Amino acid sequence: MKLLVTGGAGFIGSAVVRLAVARGYAVVNLDALTYAACLENVASVADHPDYAFEHVDIRDGTALDTVFAQHRPDSVMHLAAESHVDRSIDGPGAFIETNVTGTYTLLQAARKYWEERGRPEGFRFHHISTDEVYGSLGDTGLFTEETAYAPNSPYSASKAASDHLVRAWGETYGLPVVLTNCSNNYGPYHFPEKLIPVLILNALAGKDIPVYGAGKNVRDWLYVEDHADALLTVLEKGKLGRSYNIGGENEARNIDLVEMICAILDRVRPANRPYASLITFVEDRPGHDLRYAIDPSRIRQELGWRPSVTLEQGLEKTVRWYLENEAWWRALQDRDGVGKRLGTTPNG
Ligand code: NAD
Repeated sequence: MKLLVTGGAGFIGSAVVRLAVARGYAVVNLDALTYAACLENVASVADHPDYAFEHVDIRDGTALDTVFAQHRPDSVMHLAAESHVDRSIDGPGAFIETNVTGTYTLLQAARKYWEERGRPEGFRFHHISTDEVYGSLGDTGLFTEETAYAPNSPYSASKAASDHLVRAWGETYGLPVVLTNCSNNYGPYHFPEKLIPVLILNALAGKDIPVYGAGKNVRDWLYVEDHADALLTVLEKGKLGRSYNIGGENEARNIDLVEMICAILDRVRPANRPYASLITFVEDRPGHDLRYAIDPSRIRQELGWRPSVTLEQGLEKTVRWYLENEAWWRALQDRDGVGKRLGTTPNG
């Protein structure tokens, strides 16, 4: 099975690439290498005979046609996206271009390739999306696959639009699509401007640990390697035209998450005062959704998938990974525009 993975130099895409190669897939990693990419994330498979990299932008239809013709993939997993909510508030244009126009361009290229090959039955276009398309929950309730879309940020609106395009290409042209909507991921290779790395790295540097508002926002955290495993499960066993919500069954308020990380650091890298003394509350961001939580019944019951780690276990693995991979995150912090965001705009 040859898999074309878009966005495979990013956080989740690289976990998919590493896992797919380990499971015997041939993988073509297609990525435009934006600020969020890091080829170091896939260094462990770079020399593998079943791995290839294509430096291509998903908005470039001609280049996509060439990749499809040269590599002849059996399926596509589409993860390439602008993914940072705070960046979407500062500059929404790039999110429309990549997440909406880019997804449209990729769908057209995939459809052309699939039709020219005589519509092979096993072909899948698997679109990877977020639970943020559903908007915000109150104190109770869960997102199911039937929850109405109500995106609140430019990021989630652009992802919602891309979900609708994928669904429509399935309904209108018969393209064999599957969709997944996932909760917040964390784990190794998470870009240093995202919430959990910011919390860990600020704590290690003895800087303030920023928490939006009163820290009451709730997220349902999923360890990235569990997400990659769920995605391959859906690719292999998911029903055509169906969408699956993927969650970690790990709801936590931001303040509780921060306190868990501080407690792990106190244990594995003790400092001269408790890390929790660095916690500082900062002004909430506009349109900040209160709570996301996933009902994972469908993926659990239909496909038998469950996360392998609890939040506590995944956080400990993550903290240890950041402690052992300082060269990786220091290089990214030095990138233009990243370091100055640290500690001011945490986001999941
Ligand atoms: P990321 O920002 O770490 O990686 C995105 C990758 O896409 C980068 O390597 C980037 O270079 C590439 N890319 C961006 N624009 C491109 C373009 N025009 N052409 C080709 N490549 C391009 O993102 P991530 O956190 O790994 O998220 C991957 C996918 O999963 C996204 O679609 C995102 O919406 C979705 N998702 C993320 C989360 C999360 O918690 N991070 C949760 C649910 C869903």
